[in-house]
Amino acid sequence: MTSRVTQASVTTIQQKPLAPKEVAADRVMTDDIFDESYREKEGPKPPMKIVWRNVIAMSLLHIGALYGLILIPSASFSTWVWSMFCSYFSALGVTAGAHRLWSHRAYKAKLPLRILLVLANSMSFQNDVYEWARDHRVHHKYSETDADPHNASRGFFFSHIGWLLVRKHPDVIEKGRKLDLSDLKADKIVMFQRRFYKPSVLLMCFIMPTVVPWYFWGESLKNAFYISSILRYASTLNLTWLVNSAAHMYGNRPYDKSINPRENLLVAFGACGEGFHNYHHTFPYDYSTSEFGWQINLTTFFIDSMCFLGLATSCRKVSKEVILARRLRTGDGSHRSG
Ligand SMILES: [Zn+2]
Ligand SMILES: [Zn+2]
Repeated sequence: MTSRVTQASVTTIQQKPLAPKEVAADRVMTDDIFDESYREKEGPKPPMKIVWRNVIAMSLLHIGALYGLILIPSASFSTWVWSMFCSYFSALGVTAGAHRLWSHRAYKAKLPLRILLVLANSMSFQNDVYEWARDHRVHHKYSETDADPHNASRGFFFSHIGWLLVRKHPDVIEKGRKLDLSDLKADKIVMFQRRFYKPSVLLMCFIMPTVVPWYFWGESLKNAFYISSILRYASTLNLTWLVNSAAHMYGNRPYDKSINPRENLLVAFGACGEGFHNYHHTFPYDYSTSEFGWQINLTTFFIDSMCFLGLATSCRKVSKEVILARRLRTGDGSHRSG
């Protein structure tokens, strides 16, 4: 299973000289490239230790989300619109923020955009950006091995939610510690969110989604809490998890047939453009995670809009020639033209 990435093939859309403080953020990301030298340890696997606190929390969350589903007919239309807004906003905190910006350094974001993304990220409550990016870099570097936090070779359930219900495999922790995270440590916004993560989640994920419908259009606190906070949170979580589970199992492999990640349009639709996963694991530094621009890719539309407003710059993109050469060399022949 390999991911042969040619950093020389990266083209940068916008470039300007770097200020010294930007250097840490500008380092060429290599920790998201598959490490072919890693070998899983021989012998029996360490026993799986269930984290009961997480099992109970996730069970309660999903029961609460089902209750939220039942409450939908009794909620006002404004509450539904607000919940959808919170879903997309929080999803962008993961896709445009923790993923494409902070894990892969696929583009650069100015301070106001980084603040916006970190607020959205706290609303998504999927661990702070620092931890998310560390786990995600390990996922790319040691994909489908013991050192991959959501190793899809352990099945759909494990890669979807199971990995959050058990203690991490020791190799995930060991390899995570060895990553260069200096760029994240140098980002004051990332470290600020890490320091105040719990209160920021309480405010952004639970209090604000509940209070706004109650205060502004008189929704009941029960409806607002179970629909705009709990149901919205659980659905966004599951749609994100589908990238780790479904998009590592179902779909074509037009760019590299030797790796598990697939092109899955349903996941792309549900996860704001993150389902073009064979492309993404082949070219992890492409800010669009796909060669098809805005097609089923709300996150790329968002980043391009931020570029238009001058809040994002230096989007990394793979050239058409490199993509063509790569799919002819390692693809499964299923490529679509657009
Ligand atoms: Zn993946
Ligand atoms: Zn990624």
